[in-house]
Amino acid sequence: MKIVHVASELYPYVKTGGLADAVGSLASTLADKGHDVAVFVPGYRAALEHKDVARAEQRLGLRVEMGDRVCAGDVRVLPVKKGLTVYFIGRDEFFDRRSPYGNGERDYEDNDARFIFFCKAVVEVMRIAEIRADVVHSHDWQAALLPLLLRYEERRSGISLAMKTVFTIHNIAFQGIYPMRSFALTNLPDELLGIDGFEYYGQINLMKGGILFADRVTTVSPRYAQEIQTPEFGCGLEGVVGTRADDLAGLVNGIDTRVWNPARDRQLPARYAVHDLTGKGVCRAALLKKMGMEEVFKGPVFGMICRLTAQKGLDLLLAAKDFFIEQDCRLIVLGMGDKLFETALHDLAQAHRQKIALCVKHDEEISHLIEAGADFFLMPSHFEPCGLNQMYSQAYGTVPVVTRVGGLIDTVVDIDEHPAEGTGIMCAPSAAGFVQALHRARQLHGQPDRMNETIRRAMGRDFSWEKAATAYEQLYENTI
Ligand code: ADP
Repeated sequence: MKIVHVASELYPYVKTGGLADAVGSLASTLADKGHDVAVFVPGYRAALEHKDVARAEQRLGLRVEMGDRVCAGDVRVLPVKKGLTVYFIGRDEFFDRRSPYGNGERDYEDNDARFIFFCKAVVEVMRIAEIRADVVHSHDWQAALLPLLLRYEERRSGISLAMKTVFTIHNIAFQGIYPMRSFALTNLPDELLGIDGFEYYGQINLMKGGILFADRVTTVSPRYAQEIQTPEFGCGLEGVVGTRADDLAGLVNGIDTRVWNPARDRQLPARYAVHDLTGKGVCRAALLKKMGMEEVFKGPVFGMICRLTAQKGLDLLLAAKDFFIEQDCRLIVLGMGDKLFETALHDLAQAHRQKIALCVKHDEEISHLIEAGADFFLMPSHFEPCGLNQMYSQAYGTVPVVTRVGGLIDTVVDIDEHPAEGTGIMCAPSAAGFVQALHRARQLHGQPDRMNETIRRAMGRDFSWEKAATAYEQLYENTI
């Protein structure tokens, strides 16, 4: 099949979260399975500075109609490997900035124009470069205009660009809501501004358009597919998602086992596998040392890596601070995000330097070291479409402590509920539930046999993209 992916992030060129990993791995695995895959991504400054992108050819100049303006742009084409080509859509005015979405304090004010331009440019490149797809698969609100833009371009030009369109919701909390006037930039007819179109409480909602107009809608776990049809998790779009219930599927992401495999991980001071965990001990000591803590510490080490936002349950972590202060344990957090959480965690770590460490930066190497060196991995999320770290941590023999939400339910098995199959500890997304889960973790750590069995079961699970990509392949085949 000829498959085109369109997304605002793509590992290894630009990443702020799991979207980049998911699109990167899915595209790469589909190419390995023999499909012809193209991925479109904005040519952000960070992406163009990536060492591999330097060899990308600047092939095409573009002119994109944006309301009554015409915006010039360009596209760089990077042949990554057999079957996989990445197209970077460039325009300095929109993408030559320090980060993809905002300045750290708030989102850029022209994100509507930036991503409308991106979507329209993708259609334009497909038209000029004669890319004819079996499936155009777009991801999240930044690419949500594609299903509709493609159909309008086909109608206008009489050229068939895509047999079918698929739209994936990676996180329904981000929808791309903008003033009505932004819609003029799409050059789509105003009749699409009604309640059956992009209109959303007097504004436009780009994700709503993706959900309504794609041939198939997917999200990143079966549980999240159910949750987003409820007011608690649907973030206002539950009714819209419900109208597509028959065309909605939840497919769990995989993990890139070339990047996340403790037996081959070159970012670690030692490697290990399920039959010999000696290397995990070496990583644990290295992690403690790096955080300025005593390497010989014997109690449980808790790790956490995430965007420091409300979604990730930082309030629950902070509410559990007495546990970390009173118990003989260590807590190591890597993340950046909301200043409120950064400050609260910073103050906590400053007051308890020997026990609690915080790294405020994006650091792939430390993230690997935490996954390998910690005994437990914390994910007290309030909602979690799929989540990747709970899968990484199981692969690394680090027992996940997670809330019972979304993809966490689909990928972790509680050790008390299923003693013979358990791989982690699950709890309600509440302060009391989380503290109780931390105590269960502490007790498990004090029972080496049970802990080791849990680790071995976790490491034995198959979270590979092979499995996940096959599910997408089947979905594409059924859709065409
Ligand atoms: P989300 O997409 O909601 O942020 P996921 O768990 O799906 O959450 O994916 C987050 C990804 O980003 C994981 O690969 C995680 O390790 C990584 N990550 C998050 N924060 C950091 C950080 N500060 N440094 C390194 N990696 C990070």
